[in-house]
Amino acid sequence: MPAVINDIANIVSTLGSQVVTEKQDYEEFLKSLTSRLNELDQHIQITSTEDAEAFEHRKTMGQAVEEQVIGLRNEVVGADDLDALKSTVSDRLDFLNQHFESYRQSDHERFTQSQLQIKELNTRLQAMEQESVVLRHSAEKSRELALKDALTCIWNRQALNENLEKEFVRWQRYQKPLSLVVWDIDLFKRVNDEYGHAAGDKVLKTIARIFVQATRDADFIARFGGEEFVGIFPETRLEEALILANKIREKVANSKFHYENKPVPITASAGLATFRPNDTIVDVFKRADAALYRAKAAGRNCCLAD
Ligand code: GH3
Ligand code: MG
Ligand code: MG
Repeated sequence: MPAVINDIANIVSTLGSQVVTEKQDYEEFLKSLTSRLNELDQHIQITSTEDAEAFEHRKTMGQAVEEQVIGLRNEVVGADDLDALKSTVSDRLDFLNQHFESYRQSDHERFTQSQLQIKELNTRLQAMEQESVVLRHSAEKSRELALKDALTCIWNRQALNENLEKEFVRWQRYQKPLSLVVWDIDLFKRVNDEYGHAAGDKVLKTIARIFVQATRDADFIARFGGEEFVGIFPETRLEEALILANKIREKVANSKFHYENKPVPITASAGLATFRPNDTIVDVFKRADAALYRAKAAGRNCCLAD
């Protein structure tokens, strides 16, 4: 039982702290969670009703024994005829015997019934445990879908916002360096115009792969939208981030893109900024954007830091 409750609690907290855009999935999940809780509730009610019945039975039994014993004592005290006394005692003992017998029988029935209930409950709990595993997986899956970019399979803007918020809080607390890089592919409209949209899509996928391969696991790379990508670099000072950005820029420029056997020259530019005291996320984004704007104006295939 605790495993199921834990599982359910885990799913609820996963969903609570994260954004699941699949509203339908979420509703399905809540429905199934409600029915599971109702099931548990029913079982608890049945168990307590049975407990109450058993208690009532024992009480009736106790009263019957008490009555018979009091009656017996009165008769023994006032008895003068031994034969009559024998027969009353025998009657009373028969009566008690019947009572015990019926109590034993119903107790046995109750026991059998409880065993069945426990068995059924166990079966249901096992099913619930399995279902909650399935539910957790599907909740994780829909969350994954909600946070990944469909074309490039890297993090999307929603994931970026969540991660940036987390890193921002950490930065405020520990004041360790935190840098932001905004990437934009150069003259990408021309790529689409000259080689077609499918070629453009292929370039986006390849560039996303270059970004992810060239960064550490602790770094965070997301497709911000269109042909723009954003990187979050924790524990990385601006100068270090600039070195890294230039390495990536060179990789992009040197990668030999081909579409239908035709070479497609691709470059990208980046604007960098780092968190400074009293900065908000918006401040840092603005500075990185301004640096990107200057990088474009400087002739593209260029990374500039704020
Ligand atoms: P700049 O160097 O100044 O950034 O020039 P640019 O052409 O890259 O800039 P602009 O913002 O004018 O054009 C961006 C282009 O990116 C326009 C749009 O067709 C293309 N684009 C955006 N999203 C996608 C996508 O998902 N697939 C493809 N193939 N193209 C996209
Ligand atoms: Mg752009
Ligand atoms: Mg561009």
